[in-house]
Amino acid sequence: MPGASTGTVVVTDPLNFWGGKRVKPREEKNAEPVFEPATGRVLCQMIPCGAEEVDEAIKSAHTAYLKWSKMAGMERARVMLEAARIIRERREKIAKLEVINNGKSITEALVDIDIAWQCIEYYAGLAGTLSGECQHIQLPGGTFAYTRREPLGVCVGIGAWNYPFQIASWKSAPALACGNAMVFKPSPMTPVTAVILAEIYKEAGVPDGLFCVVQGGAETGTLLCHHPMVAKVSFTGSVPTGKKVMEMSSKGVKQVTLELGGKSPLIIFKDCELENAVKGALMANFLTQGQVCCNGTRVYVQREIMPQFLEEVVKRTKAIPVGDPLLDGTRMGALISKPQLEKVLGFVSQAKKEGGRVLCGGEPFVPSDPKLKGGYFMSPCVLDNCRDDMTCVKEEIFGPVMSVMPFDTEEEVIRRANNTTFGLASGVFTRDISRAHRVAENLEAGTCFINNYNISPVEVPFGGYKMSGFGRENGQVTIEYYSQLKTVVVEMGDVESLF
Ligand code: NAD
Repeated sequence: MPGASTGTVVVTDPLNFWGGKRVKPREEKNAEPVFEPATGRVLCQMIPCGAEEVDEAIKSAHTAYLKWSKMAGMERARVMLEAARIIRERREKIAKLEVINNGKSITEALVDIDIAWQCIEYYAGLAGTLSGECQHIQLPGGTFAYTRREPLGVCVGIGAWNYPFQIASWKSAPALACGNAMVFKPSPMTPVTAVILAEIYKEAGVPDGLFCVVQGGAETGTLLCHHPMVAKVSFTGSVPTGKKVMEMSSKGVKQVTLELGGKSPLIIFKDCELENAVKGALMANFLTQGQVCCNGTRVYVQREIMPQFLEEVVKRTKAIPVGDPLLDGTRMGALISKPQLEKVLGFVSQAKKEGGRVLCGGEPFVPSDPKLKGGYFMSPCVLDNCRDDMTCVKEEIFGPVMSVMPFDTEEEVIRRANNTTFGLASGVFTRDISRAHRVAENLEAGTCFINNYNISPVEVPFGGYKMSGFGRENGQVTIEYYSQLKTVVVEMGDVESLF
């Protein structure tokens, strides 16, 4: 694997994991090919888990939960720190496999893996600090009460394909720190790295079954959401699927966290530091080939600086090296699949029909390297002449397409920025400190970046407003989403009965 290159890797090992080991699929009849985005070649087969396998995994997780939840927070922390250490040690190997399965550049994948171990390390640090809300509440007559912070039980994690290893880590780290077990289902398009996380947790010393991986798509996801032994579902994906997950979970009154899509605004005022604003706009649109939920794809630029902004943003966009994602110099790899590529190109054609002007990119890209001919590449695109009512401005494209629109006043741009059902993120570039905080306050989104974009350190909460979901990942607050409080009332006198 360390010497792996694009177009050479085939994965044949089983990709399910429970009971402390990889588990072969029971039957192979519903196998689906998984493609390497950079070449279009088959990387492996994804064989979905059926009802019996899902049940086995959940029971295995439950057995582990009974042991793990009785351990002290510091004991759990030690195991998690060891898992973080192993990931750090193997970051290159994991990142390479992530690139081969996902198509993003190795430079980005290495950052993803680093964020993954940092997240596990962060929650390991919190594990020993967990406590009830009030330690001791004095009640009349010497009677008292206290609260205990307890885990929920077996939690399910369902992931999207854009950050496969990182999503599995963002969900499992707080879950495990709080004493839960987790059964994780990666996207059927990116099945290969979650199982590596499972192996690492096992090697670090978690009880067998504590972090299980089941493969599959909607059917397997449905089985997980309906299973009576599941206490919580944490979901990352699109709004339509999120609604289904919430509906299914409601049948069993299971807790849910929903990390859904977005169409986030990035507002650039004329008093900004222009070079930083341009760099921010690129970071807001082109990471992971534009397939990032919190991307700032609606770029509002104050009219007076529009010409300079466009000139600079187009120059830099044209210079982005697209190609073999395993090469160090590449900054944009391949989109996840052929249908996704076609969908994104379709958005560009639609934008043209609706009056948008393509300033650069927006076309299929064929790298010169013959092995990449079948890959799902496109040139990053900047669209000008956009209006708020255009499809490319209203809908989540999930590809490297930036829509740019002019604005005149702060009041106007805030109204336009908030005129969406989404609310995942937002950004503002200005040198006026009062304006920056005022805009941040008034934008309806779970995150607002001031004078930067798309930085998600593990210490800060991440999640959506409005239809971008609820619940949070990262930060101390996520402990609330993976634990529950038990109140214990202790009578020190005699029972005064009314009967
Ligand atoms: P998706 O909704 O198609 O699938 C997400 C996951 O849900 C997959 O694992 C899929 O197999 C599973 N699934 C599908 N149908 C299901 C069902 N009926 N029951 C249970 N599970 C089911 O999303 P995607 O295409 O994988 O990812 C792209 C979307 O994810 C975008 O909208 C993006 O914005 C969003 N996303 C959000 C975040 C965030 O943190 N807010 C992060 C990454 C991606």
